[in-house]
Amino acid sequence: MFSHLSHLECSRTGERHDADVVQGTSPVGAPLLARYDLERVAATVDKAVLATREASLWKYHEVLPVRDPRFVTTLGEGWTPIVGLPAYGRAVGLPRLAMKDEGLIPTGTFKARGAAVGVSRAAELGVRGVGMPTNGNAGSAWATYAARAGLPSLIVMPEGAPEITRTECAAAGAELYLVDGLIGDAGAIVHEAIGRRPGWQEVSTLKEPYRLEGKKTMGYELAEQLGWRLPDVILYPTGGGVGLIGIHKALLEMREMGWITGPLPRWVAVQATGCAPIVRAYGAGARESEPFPDAQTVAFGITVPKALGDFLVLDAIRETDGCAVEVSDEDLLAEQRRLAASDGAFICPEGAACLAAARDLRESGWIREDEHVLVINTGTGIKYPDTITVDAPLLPVGGRLP
Ligand SMILES: *Cc1c(COP(=O)(O)O)cnc(C)c1O
Repeated sequence: MFSHLSHLECSRTGERHDADVVQGTSPVGAPLLARYDLERVAATVDKAVLATREASLWKYHEVLPVRDPRFVTTLGEGWTPIVGLPAYGRAVGLPRLAMKDEGLIPTGTFKARGAAVGVSRAAELGVRGVGMPTNGNAGSAWATYAARAGLPSLIVMPEGAPEITRTECAAAGAELYLVDGLIGDAGAIVHEAIGRRPGWQEVSTLKEPYRLEGKKTMGYELAEQLGWRLPDVILYPTGGGVGLIGIHKALLEMREMGWITGPLPRWVAVQATGCAPIVRAYGAGARESEPFPDAQTVAFGITVPKALGDFLVLDAIRETDGCAVEVSDEDLLAEQRRLAASDGAFICPEGAACLAAARDLRESGWIREDEHVLVINTGTGIKYPDTITVDAPLLPVGGRLP
């Protein structure tokens, strides 16, 4: 069977819901989690066979929601490399530091994973169009994959979102609007509009169940790539938290199927000082976050003042003896530049926040020198050209260097 999807489950109440009709959140407004017949998967899929499959996220199709392969909408996404960061790692006392580089994926960020799986499943369920608020990257990914699936898309983003993402939406033929506000303001506009469009689906973060499934493939990949031995610590730049929740979900599924054993990696949720609701909630011992006032950071992808799945992030952190830390914009921009110069990796500011956090946690002793530390770099630096100031003197033709 291509997919072993069995049902959806409310992340708050555990109540079961039908997975074969279009669904949003559960009746109590909580994210729905896709559940699979993992016993059947474990009995029928030898994890060794995965190595013989194509190098894309669809190799994990048994634990993805698309039932009919004809609906798979793909641009070859997934199976991004895990690369060591030896020079930077040595300099900060983390010789076993590595990153999973999601910059090398269609649209340049890991948002492509959620879009590929979400759009595919929406098409399979007969959705006629998709609409979402976005901080930019999710919008460009969904517009791109919707175009590939032949579906119209409605994207609303803050005026301040990275300009390149507007260009991508426009190129993909999306219906695009900018709003003079934050992602929550964009969300209210989309919600109202979708209510007036029969057959359309609102695909905001965690308001439909399948984006999470796409993002969870990072967890399957990293386990397989590391020979089914997990890192000690994973750092994740946390906005809505979908990637963290997704990877954690994948780890639990793999443990249930016997594909991995032993303790799970300690989660570190990394946020920017200008928008750190999860860090505050973690510090306060709370299970839910408070809306963060006047949210602002250059790491635009993690500007989420109140995430619908905050409690799932906080649960994962606590289950694994992890932590949540914040990093200033100044600091993360400095580390972005430092890494590009030391290891040739030009990563996004969100990913750079994780490096600054790893460095701080090594300094405080929370991470030990011998530990295997994995940073999820969620996107390429090329999507954020303005984060680097360039000092390049202009020479006259025939000029001489000093
Ligand atoms: C969206 C985004 C994030 C945050 O992702 P979540 O999984 O929703 O927390 C991090 N980095 C980049 C580049 C993003 O686009």
